Amino acid sequence: MKLASSAYARLGLSETSSFMKYILAFDQGTTSSRSIVFDHEGRPISSSQKEYTQIYPQSGWVEHDPAEIWETQISTAVEALQKAKLTRADIAAVGITNQRETTIIWDRKTGEPIHNAIVWQDRRTAGFCDEIRSKHGDLIRDKTGLEVDAYFSASKIAWLLDNISGARERANAGELAFGTVDSWLIWKLTNGTLHITDRSNVSRTLLFNIRSLSWDEELLNIFAIPAAILPEVRSSSEVFGAVLTPSELAGIPIAGLAGDQQAALFGQACFSPGSTKNTYGTGCFMLQNVGTVPVASDNRLLSTVAWHIGDTTEYALEGSVFIGGAVIQWLRDSLGIIDRSSDVESLASTVEHNGGVYFVPAFAGLGTPHWDQNARGTIIGLTRGTGAAHIARAAVESIAFQTSDLLTAINADSRSSLAELRVDGGATKNDLLLQFQADILQIPVVRSMVAETTALGAAYLAGLAVGFWADKQELTTHWKADRTFSPQMSEAKASEMLRRWHEAVNRSLGWST
Ligand code: ADP
Repeated sequence: MKLASSAYARLGLSETSSFMKYILAFDQGTTSSRSIVFDHEGRPISSSQKEYTQIYPQSGWVEHDPAEIWETQISTAVEALQKAKLTRADIAAVGITNQRETTIIWDRKTGEPIHNAIVWQDRRTAGFCDEIRSKHGDLIRDKTGLEVDAYFSASKIAWLLDNISGARERANAGELAFGTVDSWLIWKLTNGTLHITDRSNVSRTLLFNIRSLSWDEELLNIFAIPAAILPEVRSSSEVFGAVLTPSELAGIPIAGLAGDQQAALFGQACFSPGSTKNTYGTGCFMLQNVGTVPVASDNRLLSTVAWHIGDTTEYALEGSVFIGGAVIQWLRDSLGIIDRSSDVESLASTVEHNGGVYFVPAFAGLGTPHWDQNARGTIIGLTRGTGAAHIARAAVESIAFQTSDLLTAINADSRSSLAELRVDGGATKNDLLLQFQADILQIPVVRSMVAETTALGAAYLAGLAVGFWADKQELTTHWKADRTFSPQMSEAKASEMLRRWHEAVNRSLGWST
């Protein structure tokens, strides 16, 4: 596919390779960094993935090492190209998608982070957020579409400025830069030339007005954050610049940028209002495209920017579950009842049902629709006959129950019932989960052929910017279902199980430790 020559001209590059057949996507996730090479039909032809260290300095705190984020991301990119026997000359553009909200502050001169990244799951600022919500919750919801919660970036930035010695003075003096992981990667890729983010990522900071589409001075004042540290806000699909480092990728245009959940919505070709997807990764995130005007939720969903392309900003309603697939990692790493996440399906399948066990994995509070930072995990219904398999099954079911609560909120807001749900993400390999999901929702659940829709969305955004793909219509033709799971459980049984689930949730709420 010939790259639009205007894209080269903007970069000041010469057209060295007349035929570039691939797009490279960076998918910087919460538990691993991935790179995937896509062909013109949107098929993944090569990929590489590396898990990296989760740092838990205290209960409720979660950090990542920004250097490790960068190194794992780059090494997977280089490896993905090597595996496919490609070089940078074969790549038309790189698109970036990332774990959202995770906050990094670094020194503009040295590029050194002043602290580890504070991850979206981190609850250290919950008390601070409670105070701000009681004073400004309605105003902030109106401007940002978000709940005041430790989940988002603003309170994490404030914490870093207040707790790292000298940080506030240096920030005021313009010496420090804040970024979510997208900004950090682009800064590193361009040797500090670009300090940018896009509208989908920035709409998760609590500092960005999603109506005026600009940083909001009143919000910056509320959180006491100096404007001098903020990145420039760009669109989700344009040629931002070219990679300078590492040499294996040098010269490739960086052309797509979106937060992981918005990228997955794009990768699932949810381009028309009403189209909806759910992604099952570390957390679960259901997004519904609502068109070009932000919608205020009546059911505690978030209102957020989906993407900005050309002159158009599109919006989504979002339901957020903090612990989705992560509950399976907990079975693996903390309980030790499975060796690998993928073993959960066979273990849970050794019992026919959950044996009356319900598991609310509120390890990091509860998101939509409760927004309770003090909620804590609950396992209920244990008997002498309960075994590891029942706990495993209840854990798998908890992912589906939480997703069901998201869909209830989305249906209530849109005053309609979704006919089927498109799904993706690491945990959708689990057929037991998706069958149970269809049973509980009582609608078909459709797994897409490309499981890596997050990376695909980033690739699409980049490919559109450089003319690798013509338009969204062309992308729609790529989407294919892998398997549809149809409901098999009776409606009465599903609603009885949901009733018990909600009883368990009620016990988790407000359980402050
Ligand atoms: P992220 O992008 O958030 O890092 P992924 O989409 O890579 O997440 O999905 C990884 C998550 O999926 C992990 O939390 C893991 O425990 C979970 N997972 C992986 N395989 C399975 C499985 N077979 N059943 C349930 N969960 C799984």
